[in-house]
Amino acid sequence: MSRRTQVVVIGGGQAGLAAGYHLRRLGLDFVILDAQTTPGGAWQQAWDSLHLFSPAAYSSLPGRLMPTQAGETCPDARHVVEYLADYEKRYGLPVERPVRVTGVHRDGQLLRVETDSDTWHAPAVISATGTWWRPFLPAIPGHPAFGGGQLHTVEYRSPADFAGQRVIVVGGGNSGAQIAADLAYNTRLTWVTQRPPRFLADDIDGRALFDVATARRRALDEGRTDTRGVASLGGIVAVPPVREARDHGLLKAKPMFSRLVSGGVEWSDGTHAEADVIIWCTGFRPTLAHLAPLQLRGRRGHIATEGTQAVHEPRLHLLGYGDWTGPASATLIGVGRPARDAARQIAEILS
Ligand code: FAD
Repeated sequence: MSRRTQVVVIGGGQAGLAAGYHLRRLGLDFVILDAQTTPGGAWQQAWDSLHLFSPAAYSSLPGRLMPTQAGETCPDARHVVEYLADYEKRYGLPVERPVRVTGVHRDGQLLRVETDSDTWHAPAVISATGTWWRPFLPAIPGHPAFGGGQLHTVEYRSPADFAGQRVIVVGGGNSGAQIAADLAYNTRLTWVTQRPPRFLADDIDGRALFDVATARRRALDEGRTDTRGVASLGGIVAVPPVREARDHGLLKAKPMFSRLVSGGVEWSDGTHAEADVIIWCTGFRPTLAHLAPLQLRGRRGHIATEGTQAVHEPRLHLLGYGDWTGPASATLIGVGRPARDAARQIAEILS
């Protein structure tokens, strides 16, 4: 069936919902298309022990404070899923799911959004598909030689699945540190990082990160030097389980190995470690395959944006993918402002 609206929002996670909130406030007609069967975006996929790195009040979308979770200073992922489900219900956001967008095309004055069910036409599209759905694996020699299990952050659930096993966790970011801490007590853990891990001071949590991102935004708005925001801190948030494992001496990282061999991994000096399983906590890339027909990717695979607006296709906005689509836009509290700006820009053009 062919359908028409003013704005198609692709993705019904936190970024898509924040966009919906502002589009509704501006009185625009829109639809949110989400590939999941239930609300909550990527938070539904999180591992069992994942908690936010900020208190609830600092993890809220526009319009509605996240309620606190009994017994937890920083809520867990299940609480975030409940909050997002309640949010879209409370604001009556028109989310259609499961609907997967397969391609966005230019079609005269409009953009045509092809899905696995209907085709939509709209003068504006907001892409808010997150990064969780495109896990990144580094090219290390020997992948096929390794006889054990290999998984990415997105497939990790609980330490119970690896009890007693020789586990190598690769990655010195927050996911790597948290999963290593999770596994430190009941597996034979080796933690491997490209650079020596840098733990942020214990009093730095999501609130401080938000303040830093806000300071950066102000600096940019006022034409001052880019402070590089959260990236300038470049470290691991010492959430309580990470702090505890670190203080017990269980988070000592080895440098990156040079290749995989049949029974484990090998370093360039010839030393090796046996492993039953390798968990790659090596990050994500933006989920943008549905935008391929628009041919917006530059030489380094990046889509140029001015704020959230695609430079070479002004009818398209990109929301929530990281600092390049708005400072702290990949966080719950940070996505509200770029969502508002995108909705305002679209409303202006449509009027
Ligand atoms: P998602 O939640 O991924 O939602 C995108 C939606 O789009 C999904 O439902 C997906 O199915 C759908 N979709 C994708 N492709 C298509 C398509 N082609 N057609 C239709 N639908 C599609 N942030 C914080 O604020 N605080 C934290 O403590 C915090 N901790 C984090 C910990 C980890 C380990 C990670 C990975 C992230 C964390 N974040 C945190 C960052 C951020 O809040 C999440 O990554 C968040 O899920 C991003 O929301 P999103 O809406 O952009 O994307």
